[in-house]
Amino acid sequence: KTPYQRLPEWLKTKVPVGANFARIKSDLRGLNLHTVCEEARCPNIGDCWGGGEHKTATATIMLMGDECTRVCRFCSVKTNKTPKPLDPNEPENVAHAISKWGLDYVVLTSVDRDDLSDGGSEHFANTVRLLKKKAPHILIECLTGDFQGNLDCVAKVATSGLDVYAHNIETVENLTSHVRDRRATFRQSLNVLEHAKKIKPSLITKTSIMLGVGETDDEVLDAMKELRKINVDCITLGQYMRPTKRHMKVHEYIAPEKFDYWAKIGNDLGFLYTASGPLVRSSYKAGEFYIGKILK
Ligand code: SF4
Ligand code: SF4
Repeated sequence: KTPYQRLPEWLKTKVPVGANFARIKSDLRGLNLHTVCEEARCPNIGDCWGGGEHKTATATIMLMGDECTRVCRFCSVKTNKTPKPLDPNEPENVAHAISKWGLDYVVLTSVDRDDLSDGGSEHFANTVRLLKKKAPHILIECLTGDFQGNLDCVAKVATSGLDVYAHNIETVENLTSHVRDRRATFRQSLNVLEHAKKIKPSLITKTSIMLGVGETDDEVLDAMKELRKINVDCITLGQYMRPTKRHMKVHEYIAPEKFDYWAKIGNDLGFLYTASGPLVRSSYKAGEFYIGKILK
């Protein structure tokens, strides 16, 4: 047992409370939706679902099933080369369910579906269109995979009516092949983010990096600079936490002060918004941040 695998104080979180949290949780039961918040046992669920200080509730919904065609070494989602076919009613059902909830901001994400010719991009786009029709006030972020570099798929999602296009680079270039599935590359991910912005310049683009997997400071800085070069607007940086013993080890628990340092660098580099902290996740309190600071 190595000492650094013990959880430092700053990563221990409170049990979720709050009326909003309880309501969304009970609503969810009848709706047959998968939230990443619950399935990944996200430590921020109380804050996000509870609405935080500005009472802006955010949740992350997983589309296209719970089996992924890829294997990333940090991720606890099940792998299957031939997952179940898409449920053609899912876009309508999800749009209906979300519009009934009283969420202010929703993140739609999915497993990677390399088995589908369009990677599920039409399914994503349909869900966005139907939801915007039913509930135009809800801000929508799509967190997509890289569609194997197919930029037509990226364009399909980017022009569907969403507000924020997110794709996570997850780690620095040098560690990408160690951390992510072999089909993912750093450059391909940059291309996805660049294309979304190019095809619809009013979109906010966003990415996320996990720290503590062995990256150096210079590598993080280089990655952040590359992202600014292609006009990525927002970045989140959080601590990698090992989901189970079968997943890659935490290399280091980064101190909160170091996350503050990266937040300052992000601001200096000109990101519209940088969220950086041990418990920050890609969608962490996204509604609060984006509604409050950017989309107003
Ligand atoms: Fe997990 Fe996404 Fe990697 Fe699939 S592509 S294994 S869902 S991180
Ligand atoms: Fe859900 Fe994302 Fe918030 Fe975690 S950070 S509770 S996954 S919305």
